Amino acid sequence: MTKKKASEQYCLGIESTADDFSVGISTFEGEILANMISVYMPEEGGIHPREAARHHAEVASKVLEEAFTNAEIKPRNLSIVAFSQGPGLGPCLRTGATVARALASYLEIPLIGVNHCIAHIEIGKLQTDAKDPITLYVSGGNSIVAAFDSRRYRVFGETLDIALGNCLDVFAREAGLRQKVGLPFGALVEKLALKGGQLIALPYTVKGMDTSFSGLLTAAVNLLKKREYSLEDLCYSLQETAFSMVTEVTERALAHTEKKEVLLTGGVAANKRLQSMVKVIAEEHNARFRTVPTQFAIDNGAMIAWTGVLAYQHGAVTPIEKSFVKLRWRLEEVEIPWIS
Ligand code: AMP
Ligand code: MG
Repeated sequence: MTKKKASEQYCLGIESTADDFSVGISTFEGEILANMISVYMPEEGGIHPREAARHHAEVASKVLEEAFTNAEIKPRNLSIVAFSQGPGLGPCLRTGATVARALASYLEIPLIGVNHCIAHIEIGKLQTDAKDPITLYVSGGNSIVAAFDSRRYRVFGETLDIALGNCLDVFAREAGLRQKVGLPFGALVEKLALKGGQLIALPYTVKGMDTSFSGLLTAAVNLLKKREYSLEDLCYSLQETAFSMVTEVTERALAHTEKKEVLLTGGVAANKRLQSMVKVIAEEHNARFRTVPTQFAIDNGAMIAWTGVLAYQHGAVTPIEKSFVKLRWRLEEVEIPWIS
């Protein structure tokens, strides 16, 4: 993290689509000066949107302050404010949007609504040397295979029901595991899987280019309750099955598009077993494999700040009256003027 230079322009980005509230600050050149993330972790059960939104509202001013301190700049040094406009959970998105609108109108600077999924890809490119990758984006809320093609990012395959990360999280919760800050459910499953080795048959569902994880999750949870297999073997088999599904779809998208890079991102990208599976198919197709560093692969404000810069530099500004959140905003709806 560096000190402010007199001529530099800055964008502050706010991410609040689900369980994370995050503020990032990027220079217009793509130097990330701050990326503060506050995770909402419910005591029990899954994410309740209103509870998560309450968390976001409670931590917002503290996280903003930390971001300015880290970046060593003041609010008045900002040139623009960007926020995650969708897709995501309504109450969570609205909380982030409210903070962003307040900041932009108080400072009288432009506001930029950013598509969360596109931001994941753009920060991934910025943080690696990938230029035009097939992206496998697997997180708590999304499982998407996407790539750029004529003015837009296109979805080549996606989940038909729950996200891959959500599948791991629910299984872990059913198994009575307890996550902590720095040790999310997916990482707990990964640790246990390393001690397993017996491959138990579980539903493998790929339909066309799309995946489905809900049948897999139900089957795994049912076996868990029967106590016939060890938790380690179940974690191992769940990972092998689910990761093979997304890897198969990524490989087919790669073969179809003949891209030369594969980018793995989203919270689940931290998983070493998934990394090794995707690396193998990339290499088989003579494509470079890149994993996005975890702090930029999970939901983070830096990705919103950087994508805000790209959009702003190509004329995209979101007037306050058009800054309503878009819960189901698909990435192919957005034109991408910054890629020629
Ligand atoms: P995100 O939605 O991008 O913020 O990422 C959160 C998701 O990533 C959750 O579903 C986590 O359980 C999952 N996750 C985090 N670390 C790992 C890991 N090592 N292996 C698999 N999943 C993980
Ligand atoms: Mg998250």
